[in-house]
Amino acid sequence: MTTTVTLTGTGVPYPEPGRAGAGTLVRHGDIALQFDAGRATTLRLAEAGLRPYELSAVFVTHVHSDHVVDLPDLTMVRWVQSAVFPAGPLPVLAPAGEAISFLNRMLDPYTGDIEVRMAHVQSDTPSAAITSFRVPATPQEVWRSADGSVTVTAVGVHHEPVKEAVAYRIDTPDGAVVVSGDTRVCAEVEDLCRGAQVLVHEACRITALEEAIRGSVFEKIFDYHADTVALGAMAKRAGVPHTVLTHLIPAPSTPEDEAAFEQDLREGGYEGKVSVGRDLMSFELTGE
Ligand SMILES: [Zn+2]
Ligand SMILES: [Zn+2]
Repeated sequence: MTTTVTLTGTGVPYPEPGRAGAGTLVRHGDIALQFDAGRATTLRLAEAGLRPYELSAVFVTHVHSDHVVDLPDLTMVRWVQSAVFPAGPLPVLAPAGEAISFLNRMLDPYTGDIEVRMAHVQSDTPSAAITSFRVPATPQEVWRSADGSVTVTAVGVHHEPVKEAVAYRIDTPDGAVVVSGDTRVCAEVEDLCRGAQVLVHEACRITALEEAIRGSVFEKIFDYHADTVALGAMAKRAGVPHTVLTHLIPAPSTPEDEAAFEQDLREGGYEGKVSVGRDLMSFELTGE
């Protein structure tokens, strides 16, 4: 068996052609785990060959709309398809606090729609099976597959002023992958990705753009994202062989733009493989 990591979205709130909102899919056999569900995740999953009723669980890194805006769609679509493909409530795991508050309210605007559909064809109500956990200061297991072969571990990261933000590590028989969520380059992710084969990390070209953004709103926005040069240094220290960049700021539109992201990691000293993310890029963990 192999484990497949697919980028379901490499974008940020500012819309860019071809880039859905934040999301990473990890599949191992029948196990399908989605990390974040930004804009158009449901569509990207379909393009990756996966329907909402096939999801084993969804994990939220933090509440910024670009990471959660498609969660209501995933939940509603799983429900709408349940008459033909019964799968039960969508399991969603999230850090306690704002994410749980969002999840508890996310279907409220659809109350009327739900009533109409239930009077029409649906036999039950849509729901997410929500599991919350306290943001852990050190890595903590938050999910385990029924057969015990796949585990998900969370750790708190640094995306302040967002209070609750986590990164996840997925361990499979084929190896491990880490998904950073949104964070500055931090020791928590560095520790989490020791021994992992793939690090999927958000990327912001802060060093390169420092002068250009000085005094603008971007100075503050960039401050809670991961500088690509520092990320290269961190990935080198952690010894992770393959770094996949996502949540790209600024979104690259040419091969030269993409090469600049990789060059930043090289400046940080990283010698491993770098993939500058595009939607639906896929990577296999083969257990080697
Ligand atoms: Zn974001
Ligand atoms: Zn964010």
